[in-house]
Amino acid sequence: MIKKALLGLVGIILILLIVIVVRTVLNSPDSQLTEKIAPADINVDAAAGRLGEAVRIRTISESRDAPVAAEAFDALHALLDRSYPLVTAQLKKEVIGGHSLLYTWKGSDPSLKPALFMGHMDVVPVEPGTEDQWTHPPYSGKIANGAIWGRGTLDDKLSVLAILEAAEYQLSKGFKPTRTLYFAFGHDEEIGGKNGAGKISAHLKDQGIQLAYTLDEGMVIVQGVMPGIDDPIAFIALAEKGYLTLELTATAVGGHSSIPPRATAVGKISKAIARLEENRMPASLQSPASDMLDTLAPHMPFGLKAVISNRWLLGPVLVGQLGKGGSTNAMVRTTTAATIIAGGSKDNVLPSTAQATVNFRILPGDTIETVTRHVEQVIGNPDVSVSIKQGNNPSRVSSLQSDGYKMIHKTVQEVFPDVLVAPGLMLAGSDSKHYEAVADNSYRFLPMRFGPADIPRVHGTDERIMVDNYGEIIRFYIRLMENAAS
Ligand SMILES: [Zn+2]
Repeated sequence: MIKKALLGLVGIILILLIVIVVRTVLNSPDSQLTEKIAPADINVDAAAGRLGEAVRIRTISESRDAPVAAEAFDALHALLDRSYPLVTAQLKKEVIGGHSLLYTWKGSDPSLKPALFMGHMDVVPVEPGTEDQWTHPPYSGKIANGAIWGRGTLDDKLSVLAILEAAEYQLSKGFKPTRTLYFAFGHDEEIGGKNGAGKISAHLKDQGIQLAYTLDEGMVIVQGVMPGIDDPIAFIALAEKGYLTLELTATAVGGHSSIPPRATAVGKISKAIARLEENRMPASLQSPASDMLDTLAPHMPFGLKAVISNRWLLGPVLVGQLGKGGSTNAMVRTTTAATIIAGGSKDNVLPSTAQATVNFRILPGDTIETVTRHVEQVIGNPDVSVSIKQGNNPSRVSSLQSDGYKMIHKTVQEVFPDVLVAPGLMLAGSDSKHYEAVADNSYRFLPMRFGPADIPRVHGTDERIMVDNYGEIIRFYIRLMENAAS
């Protein structure tokens, strides 16, 4: 009897193994058949000089409460008008929300839903005290060692300038789009984008305009981040995570520390944080992370490929592994990060309150409400109150099957024949979220080539873009306009 059962078990395991191997072997890369296109004949050095000039104009978003750098935005607008005379003469330009720009390039076929390419003109400040650590000063726009240096060269003046470079080039060639193209450049993305992208979106909605898709900054071309894949990968984000900051306040009896209660405010707040770190939001593998793995699995080594190709059996193992890493964990769950703790001011006085601030990045599927409820349940202490300080829900997940996605995918392959293309999830936020009401889909991708050392340059020291890569980015938009417009 036992022997029979054992034999049965061995049989089942054998069948499972065969299924796993077959599914893994069948999961082979699609042949990427893309025509090579001749690179557009642009003067990259002159374009780099124009980006450098834009970097010198300090369009800084200091904070939500600080006044807008109005004069700097005026100067940047004037520079754009001067630098792109054909765009200035032939496209409709509107100033919205005081300092944001919306260009309209009317297409010949009104039956096609318009596409909107975006970027933002504002930059984050340079952290005081770090100015001297820059190889070239942060607002120098200097061109040296094959790169353009300064704030905005990665985030995100290069998008604005590259889109206009591409449009200027196309206008010089007499190109006429069939689909209407919009270029939208916000002035307050770094502080939430409400007055820029928010108002441009409302402006479009007022006119009854519904876009086929938007394309914004977001994910990039990276190398060496996926195990077993050496090729650079262009990640086109289908969604961005939400943002939530909760403030926890613990209350207790104050007084002299010589007769303390059993639980102090400091103790209660500490316990609350510890409980939250022990009881994270649950991990799960869903789109876009699942789409990303499905797309890249065929290029992975056998073991990984086997696990990803057989999620029907090995899904929990996979999610468990992803949930352990730093960036992979952020892809499969709403993250919890305690960022501020405060309470008490004197060594012999019991504070009556203590506070903590916890920042969450919300995975599509979760919401501000579900996360807040989770936090209240996990803390489970009526003496610790939870209040929402700031939050926005995750974006919706855009389609992988839309014409817009396929077109962007194809354009990347044409201009960057050396890279793999995959969908992704953006962990930070962008202006795209403001366009959900007027766009069928929103994609977030800018073809900057990033190595691991480049990530800290964004919002950090030594922000710079290689001139060659800037040329590729302009050529990407040139091709994108051709592909999008028809
Ligand atoms: Zn940005």
